[in-house]
Amino acid sequence: MITTDVIVIGGGPAGSTTSTLIAQHGHKVMLFERERFPRFHIGESLIPETYWVLSRLKMLDKMKASHFIKKYSVQFVNANGKLSAPFYFHDNKPHECSQTWQVVRSEFDLMMLRNAAEQGVEVHEATRVLDVLFEGDPLTPNSSPTVGRGGKAVGVRIQRENGAVEEVRAKVVVDASGQSTMLQSRFKLRLWDPVLNKGAVWTYWEGAYRDTGRDEGATLVIQTPNKQGWFWYIPLHNDVMSVGVVGPFDYLFKGRGSHEQIYTEEVDACQAVKDRLSKARRVTGYFATKDYSYRSKQVAGDGWVLVGDAFGFLDPLYSSGVLLALKSGELAADAIAEGLSRGDTSSAQLGKWGDMFNRGVDRMRRLVCEYYDGFSFGKFVRNFPQLKNTVTDLLIGDLFEERVDAVWGPMESLYEEGKQQIPAWTAGASPEVMQTKTNELYLPEGRKP
Ligand SMILES: Cc1cc2nc3c(=O)[nH]c(=O)nc-3n(C[C@H](O)[C@H](O)[C@H](O)COP(=O)(O)OP(=O)(O)OC[C@H]3O[C@@H](n4cnc5c(N)ncnc54)[C@H](O)[C@@H]3O)c2cc1C
Repeated sequence: MITTDVIVIGGGPAGSTTSTLIAQHGHKVMLFERERFPRFHIGESLIPETYWVLSRLKMLDKMKASHFIKKYSVQFVNANGKLSAPFYFHDNKPHECSQTWQVVRSEFDLMMLRNAAEQGVEVHEATRVLDVLFEGDPLTPNSSPTVGRGGKAVGVRIQRENGAVEEVRAKVVVDASGQSTMLQSRFKLRLWDPVLNKGAVWTYWEGAYRDTGRDEGATLVIQTPNKQGWFWYIPLHNDVMSVGVVGPFDYLFKGRGSHEQIYTEEVDACQAVKDRLSKARRVTGYFATKDYSYRSKQVAGDGWVLVGDAFGFLDPLYSSGVLLALKSGELAADAIAEGLSRGDTSSAQLGKWGDMFNRGVDRMRRLVCEYYDGFSFGKFVRNFPQLKNTVTDLLIGDLFEERVDAVWGPMESLYEEGKQQIPAWTAGASPEVMQTKTNELYLPEGRKP
């Protein structure tokens, strides 16, 4: 029987982060990733607060030496096509952390995984985790899983590329399996967000318009003229532009035909995107997701922890996914290392960071919901110029301090008459809606960045 201190399921940003930091603490870590990297992934725009975790991971020099496009700002285009002034992160925090990157995820995730291996993580690619094993489970390869919620996680059952099945034991199992949500699904811990029900269709272009100089790497968030949705416009290296449309699931997909048809109609209706793509050539097929936001009711149990999308997914509006993957990975790694040194791998120890983390996600979620309810950064800053830095703090991902809550009262003072309060994520979705929900990803044939 193979044994180690910690097992990490999944080699995306959350899994790489958690495993690297646990290895830095001096513990033995095995990471199992079902794919062989590089593999395609969406989620290309980083936000500045990733800097601090990347620094702990010893990734900064690699990022600085990479060909990834440097991102200094974010800019909004409203439904009438009016472009806001850029929000330059450096004006808010004059520090090198205010420059971040637009990454091709297949390359970034590979760099992160190699970096983990360099720091002592035992990385196994093309190795799928079939089950998490709990105390009292029968430890035979062909037995059906009898995982109980009360028990303590003690290891995993894995399947190698050649089909061989093995069991590996550990003191802690970290689920970083992304939207596969292995443990969240098994224990029925998922709460679907009561309001954030979106879908996305996207593709990649060469020769699309891009600004120059400091603005070349800006993310553009372009509202559609009918205000039903928005486009991301994200410049990648090698002249590739990632352009996707996000909208309410029913609006985007119901009775609208193929992904190509939906995308073409939305671009045709949005002059700000159409103009920018007028000289561009599409270089991939069409990608699509159903992306309902969700979170787990629990961040940890005895001997197990959830990080990244395996814990929760938040609407991509402000590009917070990788930050939340890195941050939860960091917080979980520190709690695990402390627990191992004390011999305490209880749910309370492994999940001690959960409440604080949830409050941070709540702040980003509120900013997302306010945008969908008509919030305008321009109007807010004109009315409350003294809060420009604080609202920019939220945009860069500085989410985990109470001082940023200073923006909500003034924001509410600008509410139009009759605007409803945003329901908390803990309200969940109604049972009927829950029946119909499942996150799905459609990948086209052929080239993928
Ligand atoms: C449309 C869209 C746009 C987005 N845009 C952005 C953006 O601009 N910026 C941003 O920061 N975020 C963005 N995101 C979010 C971002 O993609 C995710 O939040 C991020 O990838 C989460 O990282 P992770 O490590 O938790 O999961 P993943 O990156 O999904 O990694 C999970 C890994 O686990 C592996 N795995 C799964 N099951 C198993 C198993 N049984 N055994 C072994 N391995 C397994 C998978 O192969 C995968 O490699 C976007 C998301 C969507 C849907």
